[in-house]
Amino acid sequence: MSEPSQSAPGRAALSVADPEIASLIAREERREADKLRLIASENYASRAVLEASASCLTNKYSEGYPHKRYYEGQQIIDEVEELAKSRLRALFGKPLADPAQLHVNVQPYSGSPANLAVYLAFVKPGETVMGLGLAAGGHLTHGHTVSITGKFFHSVPYGVRKEDHRIDLEEARRLAREHRPKLIWCGTTAYPRTLDFAAFRSIADEVGAILAADIAHISGLVAAGLHPSPVGVADVVTSTTHKTLRGPRGGMIFCKPEHASAIDRAVFPGLQGGPHNHTTAGIAVAAREASTPEFVAYARRIVDNAQTLAEALKERGFSLVTGGTDNHLLLVDMTPKNIGGKPYAQALDRAGIVCNYNAIPFDPRKPMDPSGIRMGTPCVSSRGMGKDEMKRLAGFMDEVAKSQAPEVCDRIAAEVREMCGHFPAPGLSV
Ligand SMILES: *Cc1c(COP(=O)(O)O)cnc(C)c1O
Repeated sequence: MSEPSQSAPGRAALSVADPEIASLIAREERREADKLRLIASENYASRAVLEASASCLTNKYSEGYPHKRYYEGQQIIDEVEELAKSRLRALFGKPLADPAQLHVNVQPYSGSPANLAVYLAFVKPGETVMGLGLAAGGHLTHGHTVSITGKFFHSVPYGVRKEDHRIDLEEARRLAREHRPKLIWCGTTAYPRTLDFAAFRSIADEVGAILAADIAHISGLVAAGLHPSPVGVADVVTSTTHKTLRGPRGGMIFCKPEHASAIDRAVFPGLQGGPHNHTTAGIAVAAREASTPEFVAYARRIVDNAQTLAEALKERGFSLVTGGTDNHLLLVDMTPKNIGGKPYAQALDRAGIVCNYNAIPFDPRKPMDPSGIRMGTPCVSSRGMGKDEMKRLAGFMDEVAKSQAPEVCDRIAAEVREMCGHFPAPGLSV
């Protein structure tokens, strides 16, 4: 038998088949290698995760769940999905007396569809739901007006306290008593502190609501035991798989056995067709990685780096929302530095430091031109950076806060590139 020809249909490498896209990917790889990436939701998936996610599993249709599929040929796919689920059960089921009781669904296409499945499972259009408001650090899918979740459901947002910008549990309890929501979300996308899941449980119990915890940002910290787990406390837990957990882009749902069939039916056939099997394989790989001591060390580095950066910034006169951080992210109020979040984020980007502009609680400025920036340490921690690099970063940030002149930013960008060169990023080939 001869080797299959490289000129047979579809067998050419990307660089040959589509040099334009290949070159764009190569440029993005260079960017990811050379920059200090501080977007709190981003990370570097490992090469193993990338390989699994880019595999031939993308070719297979498998509507349904393992051993209950609508098409034939599922011998391998069933094993892949079962493996992903059992690894996640071992990882996230730890708080339960019997981790086997944790129901796992790995089919949501991403974090937002995972959350939609929760609505579909438990709430009817027009019924009342509660979540942390967007401006206070909540997610769009927790009932914001521009989201389908705020349009199809009656959404009552709770917020943070004026005095310390911590979640206002008393307000949440008062609103819950008044509005009797069917579903209460706890979970955040721009909140630097740990969440008190037990307090939310007591609020939900008082009004007979389903409690859903969305750990999209923090699931890597939860898996490593560095943030309290809502498993065993909330009725349902949703998450992305690609933020601190460092898997492929995807979503997952954990729930108690009594909600298993409602959740599964909501995901398929309620919301989706065939699951993304290549993603499921990537999630399985990430779950295996997340069960190692190396992952726990990485997660610890995330929190240490965030706290070191927070202290170093405070020493330089920066103002942090809530005064610091317990997790992977920082919200910096740029008001004392006399620069808006957006022009500052743009100048930092030119300086090789990539973050996003972000509203701060009770922000007097407009959402498109807010007072703050949000930064997270998952990416730099995945590269193995530590205290020294965080202190240097704070110095760079201080310089850019003082001057956004192109020559200042370009000089810092060169220093950043040099520093990044000492910390090869997972998954990249440069
Ligand atoms: C990122 C995020 C989501 C949405 O995830 P996508 O994969 O972007 O759809 C949902 N909830 C929270 C709290 C998030 O931070």
